[in-house]
Amino acid sequence: MLNRRTFLKTGAAAVPVSAALGALHSTSALAAEPIVGAIAGGRAPHLHPLPARLPAENLAVEPWVSRIRRVGQSNMTEHDPAVMNIEEWADYWHGAQAQIVFISVTGILAFYPSKVKFHKHGKYLHGRDFFGECVAAAKKRGMRAVARMSPDLNWPEALEAHPEWAMRFKDGSVQHNTQEPQLFKTCMFSSYMDDYVPAIMREINSLYDVDCFYTNGWPPIGSLPDCHCAICSKLPPSGTPAYWQVFNDRVFELWKKYDAIAKEKRPDSFFFANLGGNVRGGPNLVLLGEIAEWFQADNQGRSYSTPIIWECSLQGRVCTAIMEGKFATNVTGAYSTGAVTWRNGSKNAEEARIWLSETLAGGMAPYLHFVGSEDGFCEDRRWQKPGADFFRWTAKHDAHLKGRRTLANIGVVMGQSTQLLYPGPATERGRGYMYETTQGVYDALLRGRYAFDFVHEDKLEPEKLKGYTALLLPNVAMLSERQCGQIRDYVRSGGSLMASFETSLYDENLRPRADFGLGDLLGIEKAGAVIGTNGNAYYARIAHPDAPHPHPILEGFSNTNWIAGAQNRVPLKPVPQSLLTVVPGFVSYPPELAYPPVSHTDEPAVVLRQMGASRIAYFPGDIERTYWLTGHGDLQRLLLNTINWLTRGERMVQVEGSGFIEMVCWETAPGYAVHLLNYTNPDAQHGWLESIDPIGPQTISLKLPAGVRVQSVELLRAGQSARFSLENGVLRFVAPRVEEYEVGAVTVA
Ligand SMILES: [Zn+2]
Repeated sequence: MLNRRTFLKTGAAAVPVSAALGALHSTSALAAEPIVGAIAGGRAPHLHPLPARLPAENLAVEPWVSRIRRVGQSNMTEHDPAVMNIEEWADYWHGAQAQIVFISVTGILAFYPSKVKFHKHGKYLHGRDFFGECVAAAKKRGMRAVARMSPDLNWPEALEAHPEWAMRFKDGSVQHNTQEPQLFKTCMFSSYMDDYVPAIMREINSLYDVDCFYTNGWPPIGSLPDCHCAICSKLPPSGTPAYWQVFNDRVFELWKKYDAIAKEKRPDSFFFANLGGNVRGGPNLVLLGEIAEWFQADNQGRSYSTPIIWECSLQGRVCTAIMEGKFATNVTGAYSTGAVTWRNGSKNAEEARIWLSETLAGGMAPYLHFVGSEDGFCEDRRWQKPGADFFRWTAKHDAHLKGRRTLANIGVVMGQSTQLLYPGPATERGRGYMYETTQGVYDALLRGRYAFDFVHEDKLEPEKLKGYTALLLPNVAMLSERQCGQIRDYVRSGGSLMASFETSLYDENLRPRADFGLGDLLGIEKAGAVIGTNGNAYYARIAHPDAPHPHPILEGFSNTNWIAGAQNRVPLKPVPQSLLTVVPGFVSYPPELAYPPVSHTDEPAVVLRQMGASRIAYFPGDIERTYWLTGHGDLQRLLLNTINWLTRGERMVQVEGSGFIEMVCWETAPGYAVHLLNYTNPDAQHGWLESIDPIGPQTISLKLPAGVRVQSVELLRAGQSARFSLENGVLRFVAPRVEEYEVGAVTVA
């Protein structure tokens, strides 16, 4: 393999500067620095101009939390008070330039001499104020302290005195922790949350100088509790929209209560909790996003059930949709996440680094976590250096790495209620259904290198959507009348739309509609119940396969009369001039019978419309999910062609080059930051990254707003300045080599 120096030499010689790009600009300050790469040729970019820059922030009114850029946590165990070297612990995080550390108060075991009844002291505490010593060590070094609590479990003595605190099964028996069965699970509707948790918070406030409070283990992320205690048995059944409403109300009530208690001592203190869980977060994220000052995404690493490398950046897009610039972090487990767990052992540096890089690309502050201070400082120290090195690197570039807003021309409606409550179509029930749908559309958007955001279905006001050329609704089954109306307004104002499968077939309470809520807009009528696959899935027959100028969504399909359909579809009534029609699925085995008994129908496999400036595409099949299940090239091509048609091929940011990458572009205080994550790796969808396979030159183009001048472009990972060109407001620069991550940081005047 070439080392960087050799590569740059050969790379620079191999890529000539294109004379057509006009003069290359570089400031005198930069002239002395190494200029890397050259502006490659390539297609003339068809760029959507970036919006006018935001006014400068008023730093005086910024809450302190918005200045936090690095978070550290050694998750303390009961044994730590006996063995942890507090000075070494504090020195590590301070040396890594963490600005805030999590310190355990807990609720399961007290790490200080708590007087709150049932707040059991850890057996190695021996009356020592371990929590207080840790807070003092952090403060001495200028680090802030999060008081970390865990209200989810407690011990038999508490259960005996307060049987009403426990979560219960249908038969009335108590729900216990499976690994330590002495611990019972506490019910969030019980007085445990109203009395016990506030008592601990007030005790902490009375004794210590903490900056904010956090609860681990509550509220649940990604799923809803299923409790049958005396209170919960009077509630609607868990997992239903009616239960979700009650659950959201209770989470909101407790959150506000805890936040008010945090502020009793210091008005700039606050309460926060885990809100991760990706597109399927437990509580309604929009509701909590209104009051949360810190979005904590607990998405610590990959496992075999979530093998995808982009899980963390996907989480970042969720945070951006909810928080709109307010503070968010994602926890990177420096320990080995996976189906089989070694929670007190390190994962490798490459895997930890890609997760931290995704955290930054996703607009969140990096947060490193290891379990057990004793184990993390004595038994296994492999996580320490890579984590600290990465943190220290970020500290050099805080201004460029803090995004103010994403720059994207495509919005993907994430449909949190559909993710959480919709059980899949009648033909394909399963909790993983919407997860796979999201992964399918996400994968396609990465393959197409689009600049996109997630949009929550409760944030569809015109003000929120006006920056998007196109809105995608990947089987957003549940939509209220109001949300359907907002989508209509968006299209009326010139926006384009792609929707698939059961989108709008259910209302916000999961009540099925007789026909699509968006049927008028999409120009479709349902002709029957969902049809699944038994043998061959359906095909989509091309109406004019030999047409000299095929419709743009059919570009690249030649030598065939049909292409792949999808696994499931909603049958539609015929529409005039359908480009693709359904050839119903048929036997795949035995081959003797593998032919279509019905080879031509007038059932549409796509419906396209144009209304003024708006373009609309609807696929009756679950094409995003089928693409995820199969990786079928027809489906990928169809999705990318359709998105290109909707956006008229216009890009917010264009990144040209080879390889499979994720790209996120941010407007920053100094200018712009284009984050490139390199997923060109055999381990991208399984296990850990074992090594990095660098990719070659990537050419980045942006159309700057009028009057914006470029001072410099730096490649933050490579640690070098980049040569750039600026012509007719189009900025182009090259990242000659991308290892697992690069950030092109543009400083403007
Ligand atoms: Zn209960």
